[in-house]
Amino acid sequence: MHAAGSSATREYAHFPSKTRERPSLRAVARFFECSAGVMETTRKRIVIVGGGFGGVQCARTLRRRLTADECEIVLFNRENHMVFHPLLPEVAGASLNPDAVAAPLRQMLAGVRCRTESVRAIDLARQVVEFDAHDGHTGTLPYDHVVVACGRSVNLGSVPGMSDHAFPLKTVGDAMALRAHVIEQLENAEVCEDRTQRRWYLSFVVVGGGFSGVEVAGEINDFVRHSRRFYPNISPDDISVTLVHSGDHILPELTMDLRTFAELEMRKAGISIELKARVSAATADGVWLKDDRQFRGATTVCTVGTGVPLLVERLDSAKERGSLLTEPDMRLRDNAHAWAIGDCACIVNAHDGELSPPTGQFAERQGRQVAENIVRAMRGEPTRPFRYKPLGVFCAIGGRNAVADILGHRISGFIAWFLWRSVYLFKLPSWSRRVKVGADWAWDLLFARDLVNLKTDPTERVSRAYYRPGDFVFRQGEPALNFYSVEKGTLDVIRTSDDGSEQLVAVIGPGDFFGEMALIEKRTRSASVRARTPVEVTALGAQVFSRISKALAPLQQRLAEAIRQRTTSPWTRMPYVHAMLSVAPVSSFVEPAPYILGVDATFEDALAIFATHHADTIYVVDDAGLAEAGSEGRGRIAGVLTRTDLFRVVDLVAVRPIAERSGASIRSLMSPDPLVMTMDDTAAAAALAMWSRGLKSLPVVSGANGRLVGCIRAETIMQAVLRRVASPAGFSEQRVVTAHASLTSV
Ligand SMILES: Cc1cc2nc3c(=O)[nH]c(=O)nc-3n(C[C@H](O)[C@H](O)[C@H](O)COP(=O)(O)OP(=O)(O)OC[C@H]3O[C@@H](n4cnc5c(N)ncnc54)[C@H](O)[C@@H]3O)c2cc1C
Repeated sequence: MHAAGSSATREYAHFPSKTRERPSLRAVARFFECSAGVMETTRKRIVIVGGGFGGVQCARTLRRRLTADECEIVLFNRENHMVFHPLLPEVAGASLNPDAVAAPLRQMLAGVRCRTESVRAIDLARQVVEFDAHDGHTGTLPYDHVVVACGRSVNLGSVPGMSDHAFPLKTVGDAMALRAHVIEQLENAEVCEDRTQRRWYLSFVVVGGGFSGVEVAGEINDFVRHSRRFYPNISPDDISVTLVHSGDHILPELTMDLRTFAELEMRKAGISIELKARVSAATADGVWLKDDRQFRGATTVCTVGTGVPLLVERLDSAKERGSLLTEPDMRLRDNAHAWAIGDCACIVNAHDGELSPPTGQFAERQGRQVAENIVRAMRGEPTRPFRYKPLGVFCAIGGRNAVADILGHRISGFIAWFLWRSVYLFKLPSWSRRVKVGADWAWDLLFARDLVNLKTDPTERVSRAYYRPGDFVFRQGEPALNFYSVEKGTLDVIRTSDDGSEQLVAVIGPGDFFGEMALIEKRTRSASVRARTPVEVTALGAQVFSRISKALAPLQQRLAEAIRQRTTSPWTRMPYVHAMLSVAPVSSFVEPAPYILGVDATFEDALAIFATHHADTIYVVDDAGLAEAGSEGRGRIAGVLTRTDLFRVVDLVAVRPIAERSGASIRSLMSPDPLVMTMDDTAAAAALAMWSRGLKSLPVVSGANGRLVGCIRAETIMQAVLRRVASPAGFSEQRVVTAHASLTSV
């Protein structure tokens, strides 16, 4: 069993000595417990994964039952708050503000170490939790006991089109997005003169007649119909709210009379209820049923479809339909130190022998009882099976009506609705939230619901950045935050070995992009990228990159191609060639650049060179550079014009008046700011740059002043390689292996 590292403290260290203050009775009692071997004697660490109903209650109970010296409690949650799901429909319907249903975990859980991080996996054998750390690395934390309380995920994938076109309702963000969308439809309908289109805007389809489906349908119906008075162009007939349910009656958890009451009241309020109706597809236009009926509308809300969280899928433990199977005391099967509670677990209720339903009420009770069981296990006492007599169920159905079954007593109508609000107010996790919700509800009784549609989209994270020569765009080992496209300048891709030595892996220039591999694979940078010349790049944040690359098929193809090219570099097949070229500088291959023009040369000059000399590439140098270099030297490279560029150039020239065509300046036709090599670069970098771009040659400049020195040609390099291959004695095995291992991509 793991003793939580350096924090381990012997229990008896707390025994009161004469020199200390008078001990509390509890401390004395605990000393004797420990001395008698009743309590384990090291400080334990209990890790809870998930800060929802179950996890929060478990943490609270543990903190009450164990002192900080006995036990460190660590709670991981993806968000820094707990979401009170039962009130999400009210957020969607604008009766509540979003912050009222989200309670900050660290303010609620004094004495608990709250970590806003996502747990990737739990190694049950090693008793270690693995999590995505803030810096992009995978962190690990050993535990003595772990409680899995990560709930369920949303999975709309079982119905075609649902995940693309329907709103889920699981997070505060979902509720806010739905609310904003509903307000947007009201605004659209108000300014729409076409009646059919207006009705489409105001048609809402809710899929699923369980508690959340009924509540959200009731909320949307109330919200839209009550807001109509502020939209003079909208008539009551324009609005339709349809609840689609596959069963014979909605709310299957309730008794028949309550279901019937709910259906009757909802229909009276204007909601159509389609029973025994199964959705077969969702489109941007609405939903299709299995019997080929269609409900058109601009809004589909899906409250069915839960999935198994990845963490649970990865967990090596027995499962039933994706939920973790537990022993009666909520321990995972065959594991003394791992427990599971809430929606992600399959727990039999000893009260009636039935499986616990996935509700907040049960998750909370399981959280409390699992904490008691962990304390018992730590004290060597027998644990107890989960046992809970449910108090009842409530469901708000809209129009200040609710249905309730409380300890077998059935209530419906306004009284049930009032009780429903009172109970949930009481059940909210903190006083600050109770006051907030109470204030929102009081507002709702007196005033109309708020129609403000705050645009919460952040400014798109597409930015341009400039780097001076020597500046790093990112360094090896850093987390991947952006994707980059090079607009100007040349950059080096460098891999640093463990011994600190640097190796130039690639040289990239305008038109190239980089940084996608680490983003896609969600890992840290495997190489550094440093500006060689002044560089301008466009940077896309990870989320924008992910959205754009998902939406744009051509970009996806280009990325896939780039990744394939990077991972199937020619060196993989020819490590010996890489080894040879890695130690050969560009200077040993440089040749005079055969065709050079100044930037003020004309299209006709260029055409003459291509026509008479069978040239592939013309290098264009700037006049300022020429002047500085004097008659003997050459200017700084300003651009290149290749034979393949001619098609593009002809296109550009053809749109000009005939008289101006031959005199068109080459400055406006060349590809500016080309990729260049310096004399000190390796031939391997030059060869890779030409190979990945399909180029026959690259300009070579002097590192000191950037003036054109000559060019390096793929053909010359290959000739040298072939000569060496013919007499391979010069290759050292060690060098081959090193070179091969250094092939990489960022
Ligand atoms: C719209 C709606 C209305 C509902 N109404 C009611 C109701 O009226 N009454 C009722 O009793 N129940 C209701 N429920 C059900 C109730 O909310 C759930 O049963 C309850 O939330 C389950 O609690 P839990 O602790 O198991 O999981 P959750 O409350 O879902 O909490 C799980 C937490 O774990 C976090 N998490 C997940 N994976 C990881 C990971 N890998 N690393 C770190 N953190 C992770 C999540 O971010 C989340 O915060 C409703 C649910 C919804 C969606």
